[in-house]
Amino acid sequence: CGIVGYMGDRDATPVIMNGLKMLQYRGYDSAGICTMEYGAVDIRRSSGKLSNLERLLQLQPLYGTVGIGHTRWATHGKPSVTNAHPHRAGSVVLVHNGIIENYQMLKDELVRKGHWFESETDSEVISHLIDENLSAGLSFELAVQKTLLELEGAYALCVLSEKEENTMIVAKSGSPMIVGIKGREYFVASDMPAIIPNTREMVIMEDGEMAVIRNGKISFSTILGQELSKKTLHIDWSL
Ligand code: GLU
Repeated sequence: CGIVGYMGDRDATPVIMNGLKMLQYRGYDSAGICTMEYGAVDIRRSSGKLSNLERLLQLQPLYGTVGIGHTRWATHGKPSVTNAHPHRAGSVVLVHNGIIENYQMLKDELVRKGHWFESETDSEVISHLIDENLSAGLSFELAVQKTLLELEGAYALCVLSEKEENTMIVAKSGSPMIVGIKGREYFVASDMPAIIPNTREMVIMEDGEMAVIRNGKISFSTILGQELSKKTLHIDWSL
């Protein structure tokens, strides 16, 4: 239901947790966060309120200046820790808003190929498909693009891979996604309130678009790989 991502020079966890708090008004049944440090990802998830996730993070802190977070409103699979996002498959970790209509068919195919699924969500197929494409030798970017072409339904996605340190890929079709920019810091979110406390310079993504954030730079393209130049808007109204 809510997505927040961060890449910059600050500790990602508090930035993401504050962003998720700003999206609480949309409702959710569970929450999770993942950061990447020295090329390795680490995930924390909990059911119920964000305060449960905060408590978990106090006991088992996360470190790193890159990360993604999610508040889930279950559509496929009951509210639970294992169904909470982020979802991981191999080197790939992602958060997803929306519904993948053809997930059962995609899942059956992946299971036949030997993939083991942890959750009952539609979202987990996306991480497995990207992992499959990475294992086949595609670059992170192409692995995501090829996967998106197979998806039917609605998505806003934020993806990390241990195969590409300091890279975050964002994509959107049917669910909202916004990127906030402040110098070399990037704030990704499904809704503006999560970004406004950090920056008012924003790029609103349209359906069929993706963004690659890498080493302090961002590039936009269509999900077919065609480069795009996007306008940065200055949002000066207050919430
Ligand atoms: N369909 C996904 C799930 O059930 C995402 C739900 C959401 O947008 O929070 O896990």
